[in-house]
Amino acid sequence: MPTRNPIERLADARHEFGEHGGVNMSVEASTTFTVMEPGTMPELFQGRKSAPQGCYLYGRHFNPTVYQLGRQLAAIEGTEAAYCAASGMAAISAAILQLCRSGDHIVASNTIYGGTYALLHDFLPAKANIHTTFVDVTDLEAVIAAVSNRTKVIYAESIANPTLRVADIPALAEIARAANAQLVIDNTFSPLLLSPASLGADVVVHSMTKFINGASDIIAGAICGSMEFVQGLMDLHTGPLMILGPTMDPTIASKISLRIPHLALRVSEHAKRAQIFAERLEAIGVSVVYPGLPAHPDHELLRRHRCAEYGFGGILTLDLGSEEKANQLMDLLQNKYGFGFMAVSLGYFDTLMSCPSSSTSSEMSDDDLSSAGIGQGLVRLSVGYTGTIEQRWGQLESALRSMGVTEVPGAP
Ligand code: PLP
Repeated sequence: MPTRNPIERLADARHEFGEHGGVNMSVEASTTFTVMEPGTMPELFQGRKSAPQGCYLYGRHFNPTVYQLGRQLAAIEGTEAAYCAASGMAAISAAILQLCRSGDHIVASNTIYGGTYALLHDFLPAKANIHTTFVDVTDLEAVIAAVSNRTKVIYAESIANPTLRVADIPALAEIARAANAQLVIDNTFSPLLLSPASLGADVVVHSMTKFINGASDIIAGAICGSMEFVQGLMDLHTGPLMILGPTMDPTIASKISLRIPHLALRVSEHAKRAQIFAERLEAIGVSVVYPGLPAHPDHELLRRHRCAEYGFGGILTLDLGSEEKANQLMDLLQNKYGFGFMAVSLGYFDTLMSCPSSSTSSEMSDDDLSSAGIGQGLVRLSVGYTGTIEQRWGQLESALRSMGVTEVPGAP
C-alpha cells in the first residue's frame, strides 16, 4: 500500500548545505535572531512569518537546524511538516495536548510504552481532565465501542511495545475519520518499515532516542503532521511546544541529522538478524514472538503495509514463563556469554534486553499487564548488529540450552 520508499522521499528533500558550503548543515547556535526591519518583529509575534518563510524569532520557537532535521523527518514519514522535541515523551504529550482540551476523551491501545500509559492513565486525567479508554486496538469492534462524541484522539503504536502486535492503521484511520477524531501513531518501533501517514494516520510521533538515533546517547523526539498542525504546536498562546518548552538543542539536531543517512542500513541489518534469530528460536522450540514469523497473528497485515526493504523490525520477545527465569536468561546473556546488555531502550547497535513487566511497562497494574498479554517472564530483545550472526547466535543458543529452555535437542 505505501506508494514510495521513505528513503526516496528523504533523498528528494533538498539537501541543506552548511553556512560555508559545508556538506553538512551548520549548527545554528543563536537563541535569538536579528530582524532587518522593525516591522518584521510584530509580524513574527502575530504568527504571520515563521520558519517556512525563513524567518526565525527565538530558539524555543523554531531554530533553523532543528527545523531542517524536522524536514528530514517529514520526508521519511511523508508528511507535510514535522518538528523535533527534547524527548519522545515531549513529542507525544505535545501532540496530545494540541489535539485535546479539558473534557475530551482518547481511545488508546492497551499495549503501549509505560511512560505513554502513565501520561494517559494518570497524568492527563489529574492535570487536564482528559480521560482515556484503553482497548485492544487489534479488536476493531472494541475500538468503535470505546469511541464517544468526546473522543478527539485514537492513539496506538505502529508495532506495540512490548507485545509486538501491529496496528491496522487504515482501519483505525477510518474509525477516527467517522468519529471526527485524529489518529496518532507512535512509529518508534518501525521507522522506514511503516509510513503511518501514507496509511491514513493524521499525526506520527517518534522517540528518536531509539532506532533513528541508533547509538543510545541522545534523548529526542519528533512530531510529524500537516503544516497547520506543526505550526499550531508553536502558537505563541496555545502551542504546547512553545509554551511548555521541551526544546531540542540545535547541536543535538545536527548530531541526529548525521545519523539519518545510514538509518536504512541499520534498520535493515537489525531486521535481518531479528528474522534469523526468530526463525532459529522457533525451530528449537523457544516461545518467541516476532512479526516476521508466519505464526505471528499480524504477520500478513504487516507484510501488506510495510516497506519490504526493512524486513519486519528489529525487536523480538521470548516468554520464559516467570520473572525469575527471564532474569536468569538476561544474566547469562550479559555476564556469561556477552550477547548483549541488560538495559531498557531499543534501536542500539548492540543487543539490549529487558523484562518489560518490571521495567518499561511497570507503570501498568498486574491486571492491565495480563489483559495486554505482557507476562512476567517476557524478555524483549532489541537485536543489535555488532559481531557476526553465528557468534551472536552461538551465545544466545548456549544460554538458552544451559537453562534447558529449548524443546528440540540439537542445533537447527
Ligand atoms: N514511545 C515508545 C514506543 C517508547 O518505547 C519510548 C521509550 O522507550 C517512548 C515513546 C518515549 O521516548 P523517550 O524516552 O525518548 O521520551
